[in-house]
Amino acid sequence: MAEVHRYKVGDIEVTVLSDGFRNVPVDGNYLSNATADDLQKALAAAGQPIDKMKNTYSPIVLKTGGKQVLFDTGNGESQMAPSKGERGTLNRNLAAAGIDRSKIDIVVITHFHGDHVNGLLMPDNSQAFPNAEIKVPEVEWKFWMDDGEMSRAPKGRMTELFANNRRVFDALGREVTTYAWDKEVAPGVTAAGTPGHSIGHTSYVVSSGGKSVYVQSDVCNNIHVFAPYPDWHGFFDQDPPKAAATRRRVYDMLAAEKMPVQGYHFPFPALARIEKAGAGYRVVPMSAL
Ligand SMILES: [Zn+2]
Repeated sequence: MAEVHRYKVGDIEVTVLSDGFRNVPVDGNYLSNATADDLQKALAAAGQPIDKMKNTYSPIVLKTGGKQVLFDTGNGESQMAPSKGERGTLNRNLAAAGIDRSKIDIVVITHFHGDHVNGLLMPDNSQAFPNAEIKVPEVEWKFWMDDGEMSRAPKGRMTELFANNRRVFDALGREVTTYAWDKEVAPGVTAAGTPGHSIGHTSYVVSSGGKSVYVQSDVCNNIHVFAPYPDWHGFFDQDPPKAAATRRRVYDMLAAEKMPVQGYHFPFPALARIEKAGAGYRVVPMSAL
């Protein structure tokens, strides 16, 4: 089943493409400053299953200024077989949407976690987007490619991330273009620094014809957990206090400006508006601006 959704931001066409999902266990490892019991209560309050959470992945393609620009690349087609088709479905959905991988002009990477960068490569390690300029946040690039940072990384998740990033970008010959925050990264798209989830984690404002949408990547992961409890710390956040502060700063702004948000891990098609609710926020799904 194809999972493709289109809407417009002024003259810019947005195509949302599912890269599938992963079921994440509800246990004491997910949050570092709240318990498994707290997590179960939050999920129950949101009407969600309390034994597992469905983490979805939704890269987008913008047609803007005559270019096709892909934001993030999903888990990679190599994940299709081992996950029995649950994830790694981006390339299949691109084809279903009539988008030729070889005609993607720019790939913008938001941050260097596997579910965002691994799809740069095909299962045989060739380039999935062979004619695209690969644009990466300069802060992220500097950190993950620094041998000193790698040697000082705590063993486990961080050393695994360093190894994975070297694997992916070495296969590309490290041929990337770095981009800076507060600058245009593609026509009508301005990069915004949203560090915390990773050191160089980046979001974007997409604007055209008086309309705007905020592309938040991983400012908020599971909406049922981190919208009502924005100060909770996820195991996947590199700097959890900074990630929480960024979440509040961005969501206060989105609520005040009534700017819709496209969230990489929101339920498909991952477009929503943000409202203040209690001590946190509510994520209200939308299908178009
Ligand atoms: Zn992610």
